[in-house]
Amino acid sequence: KRDIAQKDVETSLIERFLYPKFGPGQLWEVVARKVEEAGGTVRMQSRVERVHHAGGRISGVDVRTEDGQTEFVPGDMVFSSMPIQHLIGGWAPAAPASVSAVAQGLIYRDFITVGVLLNRLTLGGGVDGHGLAEHVSDNWIYIHEPDVQVGRVQLFNNWSPYLVADPAKVWLGLEYFVNESDAFWQDDDAKIIALAKTELEALGMATPDDVIDAVVIRTPKAYPAYFGTYGRLDEIRDYVMGFENLYCVGRNGMHRYNNQDHSILTSLVAVDGISEGKDRRAETWQINTEQDYHESK
Ligand SMILES: Cc1cc2nc3c(=O)[nH]c(=O)nc-3n(C[C@H](O)[C@H](O)[C@H](O)COP(=O)(O)OP(=O)(O)OC[C@H]3O[C@@H](n4cnc5c(N)ncnc54)[C@H](O)[C@@H]3O)c2cc1C
Repeated sequence: KRDIAQKDVETSLIERFLYPKFGPGQLWEVVARKVEEAGGTVRMQSRVERVHHAGGRISGVDVRTEDGQTEFVPGDMVFSSMPIQHLIGGWAPAAPASVSAVAQGLIYRDFITVGVLLNRLTLGGGVDGHGLAEHVSDNWIYIHEPDVQVGRVQLFNNWSPYLVADPAKVWLGLEYFVNESDAFWQDDDAKIIALAKTELEALGMATPDDVIDAVVIRTPKAYPAYFGTYGRLDEIRDYVMGFENLYCVGRNGMHRYNNQDHSILTSLVAVDGISEGKDRRAETWQINTEQDYHESK
């Protein structure tokens, strides 16, 4: 079956799907352009550090810009996709002690990708970028060998050949599931790249001689964990719902293991509610609570 309708297959396990030519970031480049065309402003490299509230409403946020300046930005509707821990941590005046304790106790899993550009893989009988999809058709491979630290390998060529400038090359991502507090997180990039090369060889995937280039990308708070104070998340939900112009959305914004579809849906429902003149925030907290969605097969 060649079409992309696979209604009887779990979302996470579908075999055919549409993928943006240069990756999902393209979606947000379009959104940013449309926001600007409509007269809005998108501020990059700007960090919300404090969230000011009064009388059950958010009045605005303090934003720290790349050059170290802090600016108060007022808002009549506030959508937050920043980690709940930081949202409540920046609450001004401070949230009640019990709410702050729940926020502080939320746990995250952090993530390092080592992008490795190769002349060829030894896997699949020895193959370069041209033959990759035919010989090793996976988008990602989970690694179970206990003697390596890498947890998953992405084959970026197989997501979209346009992610690789030279289609003859193989572009891999070695993924490490870590904590920011680990020594590994602090290691310098050269040391992490050296480990990645050693592990590629140990797995029989590639030889160090075939590595052309490599890059280390650290992603803090990649995964909201369902332990720590997660069991008391409803206390935070109930508290933030008391601020009528605040919409917590997305993945870390709701501390829920939302993929892109559910993350987007939380905002769509919230925006629909605003345009209908209804408060649909309770509904957004119900999104992705079904049990059969995740990778359980
Ligand atoms: C390794 C990995 C693989 C994944 N694979 C898939 C997949 O195959 N398919 C899929 O659908 N989903 C996948 N996901 C999930 C997907 O990335 C998330 O669902 C999605 O990015 C959530 O969107 P979001 O807007 O809520 O959060 P994010 O995309 O995390 O965006 C939040 C933004 O807020 C910024 N921010 C944080 N704090 C502040 C602050 N204080 N001030 C200003 N800005 C701030 C962050 O820098 C970030 O840019 C994957 C996630 C990971 C970690």
